[in-house]
Order: sequence, then C-alpha cells, then structure tokens
Amino acid sequence: MAGKKLTVVISQSQSKNPAHRELEETLAAELMMSGDVEVSLVPHLYDMSHDHSGMLFLKGIPGDIVFASWLYPRAAFWTLDRAGIRGHEGITTLHDEEDEEELSAEQQEQASKGIGSVDAPPRKIYCLDLRSFGDAEPYLDEIRRLVSEASTQTVDLMSFIQGNPKQEQMERYLNPLPIVNNGNGQPTNNGSAQNPQQNGSSPNGASPAETNGASEKVTRRWYPVIDYSRCTNCMECIDFCLFGVYGVDTLDRILVEEQDNCKKGCPACSRVCPENAIIFPQHKSAQIAGAPGEVGNLKIDLSQLFGAPTAIELAAQERDTELVADGREAVGLSVGIPKRQTEENAERDELDDMLDDLDNLGL
Ligand code: SF4
Ligand code: SF4
Repeated sequence: MAGKKLTVVISQSQSKNPAHRELEETLAAELMMSGDVEVSLVPHLYDMSHDHSGMLFLKGIPGDIVFASWLYPRAAFWTLDRAGIRGHEGITTLHDEEDEEELSAEQQEQASKGIGSVDAPPRKIYCLDLRSFGDAEPYLDEIRRLVSEASTQTVDLMSFIQGNPKQEQMERYLNPLPIVNNGNGQPTNNGSAQNPQQNGSSPNGASPAETNGASEKVTRRWYPVIDYSRCTNCMECIDFCLFGVYGVDTLDRILVEEQDNCKKGCPACSRVCPENAIIFPQHKSAQIAGAPGEVGNLKIDLSQLFGAPTAIELAAQERDTELVADGREAVGLSVGIPKRQTEENAERDELDDMLDDLDNLGL
C-alpha cells in the first residue's frame, strides 16, 4: 500500500479494568502523536455483530491492518476472517515468554494442512495480544517496526482485485456494502444501504484515533470460530453438534452458520475436532481459547491415569447437559462420535505403553 498509512485498530477489552483502558488509551495517544499510522478504536471484536459500525469500519480498511485486541492472535485473525475481513497472517516479533516456541506465521502457513481462507487478498493482518505485556512500549516498538517494513512494500491491492476472476466479489474489500440484518437473524448485504465509504466513515478519511462504534452497545456472545489453517473439512463437528450451529457454504466447506444457537459456556465440539481447529476465544482454557502451538491432542492424556473422562467423554457430557437444559434427551456417546475416536480408544496407545513402563519399574 505505497503512499497509504498502516491502519492500527485497537479492539477494546470487555472488562472495565482501568489498567486495560489505560493501555488502550496510551497506545492510541502515542500512535496518534507519531502521525505514522491511522488509529481507530472499536469494541471487543468477538462481541460485535456483523452490522455493527465498528465491524463495517473494519470491512472498509483496504490495506494492511495491525489489530490489537485482548484475544490470542489466532482467535482474533479467524474471528476477523469469519466476518469477511480477510488477508494473510502477518508475522510479528512480539511474543511473550510462553510463545517462544511458536512457529512464525509463514512457517505455520507452510506446515498447514487446513483448507485455508477463501480468496484472501494479498494484504497482511498483524494481530497483537494486549495481554502479553502490561505497558505500551513493546507494542509501540513492534508497530514502528511494521511501519518501516510496510514502507518498503508496494502491495497493490487494486491490481490484484482487477486481475482476479472473482473481481466482483473481491471489490468488496475496497468498496464494502454494509451488512444489515434481514429480520431472520441472518446478516445480508443490502445494496440500498449507504456505503460507509460514502458517508465519511472510511478509514482513509478518518481522523486519527476515531472511535468507530466504541460507544455503540455490544452484548457478550458465545460461538465457535473455525481456524481454517487447521480445519480439514472432515465434518466431525457438524455431526457432533445437535444444536444446528454448523452448516456448509456453497463450496461445501464447513462454516458456523447459526452462531447464536451455540450454548453459552459450552466448548464441547472443540474437544471433538481432530485438528484443534475450533476456537472459543473467551474460554478459560488457553488451548480452547486459541493459544498458539499444537494443543489439545496431547500425546499422553494424563487425566486417563486418574480415571478422569477423556476429551470425547467430557464433550459428550457437556453436550448432554445442554440437551437436558433444552428439555431433550441425553444421548451420551451414541450420536455424532466419530468412529475414529472409538477405534482409537480400543487400540493400544501411548498411555498403555506408559503404564507398562511404570509396571516394569516395579514400584
Ligand atoms: S471437526 Fe474440525 S477439522 Fe473437522 S470440519 Fe469441524 S472444524 Fe474442521
Ligand atoms: S459448543 Fe455445543 S452447541 Fe456450541 S457449536 Fe459446539 S457442540 Fe454445538
């Protein structure tokens, strides 16, 4: 995006914790003063509906984005993707100590066996986790680095769009239509609605640190987010969920179709997914909330040593709780449990080897 400033979006915390607000405000103020970037504040990403003005603002950003939020970067990136705000994961050097072993985004992309995003334009989305550091300086350093990196790049998004066979579809990245609710709880594009780029809310014309819908009401939500860099489209989640949350798109790809049907606090299907591709960004377990690294499929599930339920059994119990709460019958392990899982349970595994080793020690 030669000649254009990088856009930094700060997605606000759900919490009213003064330390969170202070970090957000310090970051915004310092970036505004630098004059090197466009800065905007939006509400918490996960809670914004598709027609929220903060989301419309995000859809209108044409180039690279630095997205700072109180979410794991993987959760933020795929929540944006789900809302149609697409690009490629930008590599950041900002890692807290726990992330030291994390692969770079490029390495992850190369190693990925997932079906990937659809028609992601050639721009970068850099997601920063505001929980990694308590003060603004590490984020400011990283954003300065990204600004200098961006100034050496000449990504021409318009050329990409004009040369793309799906030009009409891709043009929404430069000229998005607002998404309105059609009354059935389903967001839809409405050509009669006013374009945000024509009403002065375009990021290109925005004043620094514009608060795009930051004061507009949002309510807390709960739904799964699919990481398509991991998802292999195996459809195990659609068979497992008995609440109609999942569906398929016109390309027969899995998608979260009725996200508000999901049961608040329940993460059951994330335990069933064989690729750890289902994220619940607000879950208290880092693994389920989208922490980096290969998680969930632990080689040895130590809980089995103590007779605790396996991940699949736990998922079935969680699903049963929600079925009963809805006045339906519990189904246990009789519905939607992949054959693979039961075969795995029957086969000798590393846990058996470990128990044999313990026996051999003669303790
Ligand atoms: S179970 Fe996981 S890998 Fe399979 S389709 Fe669902 S999200 Fe994708
Ligand atoms: S958590 Fe439960 S209700 Fe929500 S999508 Fe997964 S299986 Fe369905």
